[in-house]
Amino acid sequence: MPSKTSAAPKPQLTVKQFQDSVVKHLRSTLGTYEEKASKQAWNQAVSAAINEFVFDGVSRTRKTHAAKDARAVHYLSLEFLMGRLMSNNLHNLGLYDIADQAMAKLGLNLADILEEESDMALGNGGLGRLAACFIDSMATLNLPAVGYGIHYEHGLFRQEFFKGRQVERPDEWREFGSAWEICRPESQQTVKLYGYVETVYDNGAARKVWHPGRTLRAIPWDIPIVGYGGRNVNVLRLWESRADKFFDWDVFNSGGYVDAYAESVQAETVSKVLYPNDETPAGKELRLVQQYFFSAASIADVMRRYKAAHGDDLTKFADLNAMQLNDTHPAIAIPELMRVLVDEEGLSWDKAWAMTRQTFAYTNHTLLPEALEKWPLKLIEKVLPRHLEIIFEINARFLNDEVENKWPGNDGVKRKLSIIEEGSDQMIRMGHLSAIGSHTVNGVAQIHSELVKKDLFPELNELWPGKFVNVTNGITPRRWMKACNPRLSTLIEKHIDDDWPRYLDKLEGLKKFADDAEFQKEYMAIKHANKEDMVKVIKELTDIDVSADAIFDVQIKRLHEYKRQHLNLLHIMALYRRLLIDPNYDMHPRVFIFGAKAAPGYKMAKDIIFAINKVAEKVNNDPRIKDKLKVVFLPNYRVSLAEKLIPAADVSEQISLAGKEASGTGNMKLALNGAITLGTMDGANIEIAEEAGRENVVIFGMEVDDVVALQEKGYNPGDYYRGNDELKAVLDWLEGDFFTPGEPGLLAEVKRNLVEQDPFMVLPDFESYCEAHQKIDSLYRDQKAWARAAIINTASLAKFNSDRSIADYADYIWHMKGVPAAAK
Ligand SMILES: *Cc1c(COP(=O)(O)O)cnc(C)c1O
Repeated sequence: MPSKTSAAPKPQLTVKQFQDSVVKHLRSTLGTYEEKASKQAWNQAVSAAINEFVFDGVSRTRKTHAAKDARAVHYLSLEFLMGRLMSNNLHNLGLYDIADQAMAKLGLNLADILEEESDMALGNGGLGRLAACFIDSMATLNLPAVGYGIHYEHGLFRQEFFKGRQVERPDEWREFGSAWEICRPESQQTVKLYGYVETVYDNGAARKVWHPGRTLRAIPWDIPIVGYGGRNVNVLRLWESRADKFFDWDVFNSGGYVDAYAESVQAETVSKVLYPNDETPAGKELRLVQQYFFSAASIADVMRRYKAAHGDDLTKFADLNAMQLNDTHPAIAIPELMRVLVDEEGLSWDKAWAMTRQTFAYTNHTLLPEALEKWPLKLIEKVLPRHLEIIFEINARFLNDEVENKWPGNDGVKRKLSIIEEGSDQMIRMGHLSAIGSHTVNGVAQIHSELVKKDLFPELNELWPGKFVNVTNGITPRRWMKACNPRLSTLIEKHIDDDWPRYLDKLEGLKKFADDAEFQKEYMAIKHANKEDMVKVIKELTDIDVSADAIFDVQIKRLHEYKRQHLNLLHIMALYRRLLIDPNYDMHPRVFIFGAKAAPGYKMAKDIIFAINKVAEKVNNDPRIKDKLKVVFLPNYRVSLAEKLIPAADVSEQISLAGKEASGTGNMKLALNGAITLGTMDGANIEIAEEAGRENVVIFGMEVDDVVALQEKGYNPGDYYRGNDELKAVLDWLEGDFFTPGEPGLLAEVKRNLVEQDPFMVLPDFESYCEAHQKIDSLYRDQKAWARAAIINTASLAKFNSDRSIADYADYIWHMKGVPAAAK
């Protein structure tokens, strides 16, 4: 139960004190002065002023956890999509208003200063953003927790459009350093790679010694994570790779100065750049090295901390340490912990395995077969020869004991469950390794978790009943409401307690105002004001003029065929066509807004971006319809842009093919901010509909069972193409040069893909999708009904607080409790 005492943070200093602190840092930390300072310098001075509180919190929290010898969780993730930190830190410390007033006193606007911060985009999309929301919640719930990842020099690429096509530019988030990170050279680790394994016999017992061909240094950078209220400040520890000094020294002495330098450049490439793939594994050696590099460094770090407190007796290791694998990217941590325990610490296999399984839990994020990670056995053998042996041993014991006991003599089941996929090129299945090496496996929404049990690991679910569980994803209401939607936050605070960012179920209290005319008016006025702000952003970024009186229909997420941005496009083309056929076609004006990056190697995704941009160009410049239909593709979708768009959205497009979107979190952010979900029965859309009520969302399309039935019957897209005149007309439209004047055929590939293959069944859902849009249109014309539905959405979304997700992990998976840091 929520406590009675307010969790809203109290300011710990006055406006004047904060102002003085900023000026002090401007002069003494930045070496400049008020008259000369750039906005960037002011930004850094404000960061430094905030950090006085943050760093103190880090120390207090660390001391408490060490003194209490608390059980800790380690969240291993190859991605953390943090976005900007200043506004979040100010809100969580209760300093936002203080800082705002202090800057005003200095003749500056805090909002402008916040804009100077680069996004920390060390992730691709939902998976990385989930990790960011989760570490916010772990700090807020006072959990002793460390996020572990990679300190990429370049995060996700910056997206530009050139003649409608995506161009990727390097991300330079820390070109001149980042205000929030602290380098901790004293905690560096060494990571081994390549080489060979020797079997040594002492006293008749065989022991394995790995002679690495290369070693890297892992340097930790700590990003403080301020919990709401500012009491606990955890850290996100990101590893940077550097050449091993000793290795360089040898080459240097033998006259190989340039070679030595080349070696260090190669070592530094390990943390150089984030792989920009979302839902598609890269399969490249460097990626495997990245995965191992940060897994090994993190385990060594956990082991170092344990031994500092407990010496060499490892009996309490698994009682004090939980490790969560965010997808299979850090799965190599499982054989790594086995290697450390058996080869380095001299534990028996059985003891080490029991400890390893007690330590790890694994979160599955996808069922898409193409997204399930596999590594060529040959590659693992080359990069991590000892780990391959350990994987063989894990597999042999699993198949010969556990599987053989359950299904005696059944080679079919063994083939299916083996970590090693047989074939001309043997592959290591990282999902199998993760599930076998963990005590608990979770999916990320109810339907997804059911499909993990039913379709992905049915035998493992039978073998270990209860091992497969659900933890529905969540989002932090601090970033995704309090900080990004100050107008709505103020309205909420006026009507219910001010601690709703901590206890989101208090939003329930808004339900009683859902039919209140005055409240509706205020709520809709806020949406309108947020849209007016967005109108300016759209103008600035794209030079397109839109009206805040139109419906803002928003689809923001990575570009992927399964997410079906092209279904949205086909419907836009249909509306355009209707308006051309009948200029009086009755519809409320609409602005369709897209934001999406495509993986640089994903051809169809890039074709879809190009097609949307070309259709937009034509529609936006067609004087016949321009007041009714606009299409805006905002470049470089990222967290800071999402924070501007989400408060301004009327409609949330969540239109993946049923069964393909594991959860989605964009759907939660938008619904919390009062956008009406237009979605399929997929991922967390189902739970949003359940919470907000079916009548307050617009659901369309096939459900999972329909998809399966159609697949079994044999899906033929041509039937749908020929069976619907409007659908046929818009698809044919893509073939000529209507949208690409003088250059026919540039969009033909999108049509061909849909008519000949349509792997994500866009065409069968088209008709139902168009009808759903009609429902949106008529609902919007009834402003009272719309306001009511939007308010009920905001009031009903407490379930999707990431604090609830993390409380579930803590209760049912990590079995741990919060340990509040000592107050100052
Ligand atoms: C929330 C978020 C996502 C995830 O969006 P989905 O619609 O759930 O795929 C991706 N990118 C950014 C920048 C986000 O903030």
